[in-house]
Amino acid sequence: MMKIKVNENFAALKESYLFSEIGRKVRAYQAEHPEKEIIRLGIGDVTLPLAPIVVDAMKKAVEEMGVKETFRGYPPEYGHAFLREAIAKYYKRKGVSVSADDVFVSDGAKSDVGNIVDILGKNKVLIPSPVYPVYMDSNLMSGNKIELLEAGEADGFLGTPDVLDLEPYVIYICSPNNPTGAVYDREGLAAWVKYAKESGSLIIFDSAYEAFIKGDYPHSIYEIEGAETCSIEICSFSKMAGFTGTRCAWTVVPEALVTEDGYALKKLWSRRQATKFNGVSYPVQRGAEAALSEEGVKQCAALVDYYMENAKIISEMLTRKGVWHTGGVSSPYIWLKCPNGMSSWAFFDMLLNEVQVVGTPGEGFGEAGEGYFRLTSFGSREATVAAVKRLESVL
Ligand code: PLP
Repeated sequence: MMKIKVNENFAALKESYLFSEIGRKVRAYQAEHPEKEIIRLGIGDVTLPLAPIVVDAMKKAVEEMGVKETFRGYPPEYGHAFLREAIAKYYKRKGVSVSADDVFVSDGAKSDVGNIVDILGKNKVLIPSPVYPVYMDSNLMSGNKIELLEAGEADGFLGTPDVLDLEPYVIYICSPNNPTGAVYDREGLAAWVKYAKESGSLIIFDSAYEAFIKGDYPHSIYEIEGAETCSIEICSFSKMAGFTGTRCAWTVVPEALVTEDGYALKKLWSRRQATKFNGVSYPVQRGAEAALSEEGVKQCAALVDYYMENAKIISEMLTRKGVWHTGGVSSPYIWLKCPNGMSSWAFFDMLLNEVQVVGTPGEGFGEAGEGYFRLTSFGSREATVAAVKRLESVL
């Protein structure tokens, strides 16, 4: 028997990660009913291919890797300068000032969201509910003390700092929110920045869905004055450019983030990344750079538009059926209330068994998600239309 100790904080986690549990149930159903065709509107994975400009850039980069003079070994651990600068320019086009030197390229927002706890100590952590489960699980793994900021229909699934005493927290904000699609306006986000500054808190702002925003909402927390003194921002190419399988993201850790003990978060994150991360491959970074060019942004916006048309098709059916729902306007997710007071998992089972449509139980995103359900617009048009027809027959 081994005499080593393990990280016992893992005992505080739910038995399986939400999407593993869904996968298990779907596999079990398929094994029992091999003749049934299942439509997946569950996991938030994209289905459209990469934009042509991205593919061309990646091909060219691969060619370079096959020639002695242009071959490259390890990439710089914080990202190639060309991509860090392209990201800074992308912000600039939105009227936001971010220094390329504060941008850290990575293989995914999930990695950064999960790894950021490495540089933080034993703080109180404030996590919205419902929300992307990685915030919660990564903090549980570190044994951190977590408070939930529950949101619901009454506040449009947008929690506010009004309910808090002035205490320092590490605050997670996801806008547009996964799973609810709720998006903060300037005033709402400014209230969080004000709270963070007054209380000495740190905001970790996840903007993975900023490219889906329609209308005059902030795409970045740095659109709010003073945010660079209290906020880290994490963004991803996954949904904006279809990079879920290609893997590339970034995190902005501004120079101005300094604790009262004199620690600069940028220095800590630089050290953490240099030690535990060896960079993103050159062809992928060239592809990401192309996605942020003016033409790349246009081509990627066409992908987003396609998904948003799916969202409209789902949303219109729910409206016809009188099912309460939100989202699907500034986000690829539709958040609906399970009919007849059903629980999230009961609704999941019903849809799987009766019409073979897979969605995501809201409860998996936190307790405040119980009784709700998430559908995604990332399927093909054909699959979405077929799923809508099936859903319409049981709702
Ligand atoms: N943040 C949010 C809110 C997400 O929904 C997701 C993926 O679904 C991620 C981060 C992960 O992004 P990435 O593919 O870059 O790891």
